[in-house]
Amino acid sequence: MRVLTRVTIATLAAIAAAASFAYPDKPVSVVVPFAAGGPTDVVARSLSQVLGAQLKGSFVVENVGGAGGTIGAGKVARAAGDGYTLLFHHIGMSTAPSLYRKLDFKPTEDLIPIGAVVDVPMTLIAKPQMGAANAKDLIAYIKANKDKINLANAGIGSASHLCGLLLQSAMKTEVTTVPFQGTGPAMTALLGGQVDLMCDQTTNTTGQIKGGKVKAYAVTSKGKLANFPELPTLGAELPGFEVGVWHVLYAPKNTPADVVKKLEAGLQAAIKDPGFVTKMKELGAEIMPVEKQNSAGAKAHLAGEIAKWAPIIQAAKIYAD
Ligand code: ASP
Repeated sequence: MRVLTRVTIATLAAIAAAASFAYPDKPVSVVVPFAAGGPTDVVARSLSQVLGAQLKGSFVVENVGGAGGTIGAGKVARAAGDGYTLLFHHIGMSTAPSLYRKLDFKPTEDLIPIGAVVDVPMTLIAKPQMGAANAKDLIAYIKANKDKINLANAGIGSASHLCGLLLQSAMKTEVTTVPFQGTGPAMTALLGGQVDLMCDQTTNTTGQIKGGKVKAYAVTSKGKLANFPELPTLGAELPGFEVGVWHVLYAPKNTPADVVKKLEAGLQAAIKDPGFVTKMKELGAEIMPVEKQNSAGAKAHLAGEIAKWAPIIQAAKIYAD
């Protein structure tokens, strides 16, 4: 009996080892917690291709939008930890714990960071009809017309929400915010003039700005951006204003260590892919530092960002139920 038990355990261990060695032997779902066609989706689709090539598997993006990214993130937090459901999420993972009174998952406990991928600056853009000539005029216009202005975002907990929150607090002016399932659909509304303003990652706005389809006023990075030398920083008008949208790939807790290792190695190689690097550069995204492109580095980054944003959000007294 005792021998049989040992044999059974050994057999199960061997089966488990063989299964993870073969990983991935069926399509892997990469959940993006926002609508298709937006900036997180664009990066996730590029990354999924190169990750699939590295790990000789199929990585397929699944868009699960809503509630500023928390619905998709929660879905992955509760998924089986077998390596076949992953999450590609951004800075919202660190702001949601402070923004939501009730969050149905714990970012630092229910998910394992695999590695940080890119850091993407945002741009403050407006509908094509916006008359303000520059960032200073735009701020004056918003203050004078606060009851008329609509600011689009991807819901509470999204990067566009965070940027809008910081903007309103720096201007000491509240405007009406309009949530979408992602800034892909929000961009459509902006182009159609149904909303007035939006903060969004360059991975969604570069083409629209360069094509003259939207009015661009400023960048949210500390310094000016090489891709937009004509745009000032928002910090030049609103001192201290700075937001960068970092992105991390996650697996649910309980994902076997050897699968995490395999994903980590695949991700590190994928991030170096010349095609991926070129595309990210064109879209204004910066590859995250090498020391954060692994599980431990991304975990430390997430913890640092949760600690950084908590007091800022608490001071702004904004909560979602
Ligand atoms: N840019 C969005 C945000 O504000 C998300 C998206 O649609 O990718 O968080």
